[in-house]
Order: sequence, then structure tokens, then C-alpha cells
Amino acid sequence: MGRIFTKRGVSLTQNIERGVGQLNSRIKEILRILAEEYPHAKTELHYNNPFQLLVAVILSAQTTDRQVNKVTDKLFAQVQGPADILEMGLFRLEEQLKSLGLFRQKSRQIMETSRILLEKYGGKVPDTREELESLPGIGRKSASVILSTAFGVPALAVDTHVARVSRRLGLTGGGNPFAVEEDLCLLLPPDLWTLTHHRLIAHGRKICRAKNPLCDKCALSTHCPKNIVTA
Ligand code: SF4
Repeated sequence: MGRIFTKRGVSLTQNIERGVGQLNSRIKEILRILAEEYPHAKTELHYNNPFQLLVAVILSAQTTDRQVNKVTDKLFAQVQGPADILEMGLFRLEEQLKSLGLFRQKSRQIMETSRILLEKYGGKVPDTREELESLPGIGRKSASVILSTAFGVPALAVDTHVARVSRRLGLTGGGNPFAVEEDLCLLLPPDLWTLTHHRLIAHGRKICRAKNPLCDKCALSTHCPKNIVTA
């Protein structure tokens, strides 16, 4: 594995050698409980190959995975790769996506990304952050999801759930997704980044909700400095 740097340029190479055994006992306990509560946490987006995951990730901006799956379950019966998107054309793609917010913008991004994949990458989805982030509709968080989920590359995508739950648990004081990612990546060994991402999302959706977190039902409450949250 090559060297991994955070946004502030801190080398994470040393973390690659680290294990949970070197984490402090509170964090170890939080990770243990998350693993117990959400042993099979993974992305809820439906996909069969890296290209379909990329499309689903573009579509998931500002909408729920459930809404995306409703659309892609039908779309992916016709679309396996970027050539299928170009053959479908913008008008028919928009028709398929029109139940989703920002569907015109997302349709254009998917069309353009498909064209680039065919012209530059032989129709394959690239597996480096730099290449992924150069594609329309793919930012840092989306690239992290694709890298970790489709290619098994350690990456910790920070969405609203990951940021909120991490802050409440005192794992980070980061005020933006980059800072939260950096704190979590420095705190955890790379082999736990992807799983912890999925488990924090699962906990955020089920228990540690943005409004009215269910602290009285939370398995992490004795380890959480924010367990007095009531609204
Ligand atoms: S105790 Fe409350 S604030 Fe803390 S992680 Fe659990 S639900 Fe979230």
C-alpha cells in the first residue's frame, strides 16, 4: 500500500501498522459495541459492478438510498456499463431519473462521466482517488465510497451521519467533513476505516438520529459524552 496523507498532509503510514490493541480503551469499547450492534453493516445502495455503484453514488446526492434503489433497480436492468448510458441518451435517462431531486444535473453528470470512462479508461471505473475525483459528480466523499466499496481501498467517507455520530461520541471536534475524516483516520487503523464508516452510518440512521437521538436505547450511552441529548 502506498503512503496515505490526510488533507493537512499528515502521513498515515504509521497507522497501517497499528491495530485496535493500540487504541485507547474507550475507543476500543465503542468499536466493539458498534461491531456487535451492526456486524454486517454495508452500503444500502444496490449495484452489481463498479460502474453501477458509481452511478448510484452520483444519484444519492441529497436523496435517500431507498429512493435511489427504486430508480436503479429498473435502470440497472438496462445499464451495465457506460456504453449503455450513451446508447440510452440524455432524454431517456432523464425520464428514468425524474423522480429524484436534481435529476437533470445528475443525468448530465452520468452522461459526461460515461463518455469520459469510454474515452479515457476503456469503459472501466478508475481505482485511484485522483482519477475518480476528476469525474463529474464525484467529490471526495463519493470517491471514498467507490474506492472502499468497489475496490477494497481503505477510505473513510464522511457523510452527515458519520460526522454527527463521531462528534457526539467525542471522536472528533472537526467542523467540516475533511477535518472529521482526518481525525477519524488518525484515530483508527486503515483496516477499520470502511467498516467504521458503515457502522457509524447505521447507528446514525437507527439510534443517533439528528433530531431526537434515542440515547435511552443506545448501546454506546455509557461511553458517550453527549448522552444527555434530548432534542
Ligand atoms: S448516547 Fe445519544 S448522542 Fe451518544 S451516540 Fe448514543 S444516541 Fe448518539
